[in-house]
Amino acid sequence: MVPSDQLPKNYDFTEVEERWRKTWRDADNYFDKTSEKPRFVIDTPPPYPTGNFHIGNALNWCYIDFFARYKRMKGFNVMFPQGWDCHGLPTEVKVEELNHITKNDVSREEFRKMCRDLTIRNIEAMRLTLRKMAFSTDWSNEYITMSPKYYSKTQLSFLRMLASGYIYQSEHPVNYCTRCETAIAFAEVAYEDRETTLNYFDFDGIEIATTRPELLAACVAIAVHPNDERFLQLNGRSKKVPIFGHDVPVIQDEAVDPAFGSGAVMICTFGDKQDVHWWKQHNLALRKAIDRQGRMTGVAGRYKGMNTAECRTVILADMKEKNILKRQEKLAQRVGTCWRCKTPIEILSERQWFVKIRPDEIQKAAHEITWFPGHMLLRMENWVQQMEWDWCISRQRIFATPIPVWFCTKCGEMVTPDEKDLPVDPTLVKPKQPCACGSTEFHGEVDVLDTWMDSSISVLNVTGWDGNGIPPYFPAQIRPQGHDIIRTWAFYTILRSVALTGQKPWDEILVNGMVLGEDGFKMSKSRGNIIVPEDILSKYGADALRQWGAMGAATGSDIMFNWNDVIAASRFQTKMWNIAKFALIQIGKEDLDRNAPITALSDRWLLVRLSDTVEQVSSAMEAYQFDVALKAIREFAWEVLADNYIELVKGRLYQQDSSRKSACLVLHTAFDALCRMLAPFTPYFAEECYSFLKGESVHKQPWVTFTYDDDAARREGNMIVQVAAEVRKYKHDNNMALNAPLGRVTIYAPHTVDDEGDTGRTLNADVQWRTDVAKLDRVITDVEFNRSVVGKTFRKDAQAFMDAVKALSPAELERPPKMIKVNGADIEVPQNAFTPKFSYMEEGAKVDVLTVGDVIVTIVKK
Ligand SMILES: [Zn+2]
Ligand SMILES: [Zn+2]
Repeated sequence: MVPSDQLPKNYDFTEVEERWRKTWRDADNYFDKTSEKPRFVIDTPPPYPTGNFHIGNALNWCYIDFFARYKRMKGFNVMFPQGWDCHGLPTEVKVEELNHITKNDVSREEFRKMCRDLTIRNIEAMRLTLRKMAFSTDWSNEYITMSPKYYSKTQLSFLRMLASGYIYQSEHPVNYCTRCETAIAFAEVAYEDRETTLNYFDFDGIEIATTRPELLAACVAIAVHPNDERFLQLNGRSKKVPIFGHDVPVIQDEAVDPAFGSGAVMICTFGDKQDVHWWKQHNLALRKAIDRQGRMTGVAGRYKGMNTAECRTVILADMKEKNILKRQEKLAQRVGTCWRCKTPIEILSERQWFVKIRPDEIQKAAHEITWFPGHMLLRMENWVQQMEWDWCISRQRIFATPIPVWFCTKCGEMVTPDEKDLPVDPTLVKPKQPCACGSTEFHGEVDVLDTWMDSSISVLNVTGWDGNGIPPYFPAQIRPQGHDIIRTWAFYTILRSVALTGQKPWDEILVNGMVLGEDGFKMSKSRGNIIVPEDILSKYGADALRQWGAMGAATGSDIMFNWNDVIAASRFQTKMWNIAKFALIQIGKEDLDRNAPITALSDRWLLVRLSDTVEQVSSAMEAYQFDVALKAIREFAWEVLADNYIELVKGRLYQQDSSRKSACLVLHTAFDALCRMLAPFTPYFAEECYSFLKGESVHKQPWVTFTYDDDAARREGNMIVQVAAEVRKYKHDNNMALNAPLGRVTIYAPHTVDDEGDTGRTLNADVQWRTDVAKLDRVITDVEFNRSVVGKTFRKDAQAFMDAVKALSPAELERPPKMIKVNGADIEVPQNAFTPKFSYMEEGAKVDVLTVGDVIVTIVKK
């Protein structure tokens, strides 16, 4: 117990948070591989190292740290690893920007080095924010996806899935960004509403409507509905493509909408997903009119070399000239765009690498996982059900995990490295053995892997996967993540875990919402509504920010940022600090008597309320309902403990007898429990308080298991608290100081209550509890005049009128006569001239009466 005179007057979060940050040791949060305790392994999201840990990350990590700390206190061996998902386009783009180069200006190796250097600097900055926020990260389990150690695992997982038939390469239409010059997966396509022009033109006698005339060169068929009588005679015939002159067949397909345009559509390779579908279904030719840079190819004849927009303009002009363009209309359209740069996606047929999607396997595993909140499972199901294409995993970029294969230049055979030689960059090294054909000439695969190929084995990595069977700590207990990456990170992780281990990756998944700006919109630079965690940290500290994270919304819901919530959190800490100082000073006055008998009603009441709170908070923590848990803690601390209990027992604490010891023990119990329940939410604040209370770290204490059963104490305690609150309000309404002496207070309760004098002391009154029925007489004790009515009617006779009224009997005052004598004359009594005022008499004395439920309180003021 620290002497109470060392307690600072005010809580200085800057000083306290920095001091504890320097005191805490990383090793206290390490996962213990030798421990017998039950495991709790967290598949922490590896953030993209942008250098800024943003507010959405902060919310996500708050949730993780709340339950990581809670589980440790519950006796689990917790692994809270920290990864960094390094590869990908945003870093490449940043490096190009910072160095004023494009990726082709330097060698691949040099460009990679620039990306790695930037990534390392960014990780450093983000680590610092993680530490400031008091996240109890297990730094012994940190991983960086660009490190050779990690990417050799990514390559190993690739080779294993290649061997088992999950991965294949093929020429197949893929979503392609011609600005980024890379294939992207369906999950990376963002949709935007745009306005475009629908062009009607004459296609060898048939009217066709198209939004993309530049694809005319890629036209491979005309499709009509089989029941469309207008086109029956055309079936099996061919038509000449305008401008380009090649012949295409007319085919029938149920999917054509006869009501759209003329009822005939042209199929191009490829305008959209439907084209791909028809192309496969009807075994059509492939005409590649657009290349990887988004320029027209030789197939487009004299339009070769133009970009698609230029080509569109020129073709429309040519159509006009040939007089085949009939009319044009505006059309609202949803366009698939690159998630990164917003360029409209092209569908190009390219040789790419794919991972097979087996929807049933994924559905089965997804159903074996418990989802918090439960409805998030639906999002996964909907996504899996609409999967049509396999996952394209090859990218035509540089800063990524290399695809570890070579091709023999002589026979074309694919050669893979020995697993023990991983990691390899096939563009830098050659296979150790010659090809089966005897050749030693190879070319290494230049395509690299989609970043999700790295991050979708995060769980395998942290659970100790080395390629041999089920990893030692697999499956993880929980995956925390945002709902925006269910179709990517969650989906791919389940897919990869099933493919590589045959099992689900985690027992549970906890999905958090997005953080919106104060204006209710998604945070963005253009709106200027971005909130930076560092800013909150410097103004209000980590504990206040963490409380905001807990209280802002139910888990899974989007949460609007609001400075007022942070300020309220900071106020709660000030209030708690005042409670702490009071409690610590009282408890610290002498040795705590742990065996003091607890008999006083208010003491028993507090313990019951504490027991209720512990139960409520614990079950909320089990269900990841952090808002419910912290709200219960705050209510208990603020209302139950500070506003009610401490007010009730303050007087008793200044007495020197066993009843003081009982209150001290209760105060100690409650304060100890509060610190421990607050520890996951406000680790700095709880640590500071607990160090004064016990001289130990609160983070090494077990979770609170306190229970106390006493229904009578709950009932009667609630009653005395309500009575005391009502009488305090009475004092306030009567302009009395709250500690002013009040006189005699009689409380008529339904049954006997022994409050051991607490109510009397807190109200500074002579309090009597009675169980008989109050005998009250209602009497008129005064008259209140309506001055404006009286003044206007009686002018100079006003006083005489009022004297006459006051002289009336109580019965007359209740039912006033029509006429009254004023200065000897009979005068009519005006409406609303006065109202009689009632009082209550009890045993001959005038009393004020309050009612609190079925309790009646009478007060005789001093
Ligand atoms: Zn792009
Ligand atoms: Zn060969």
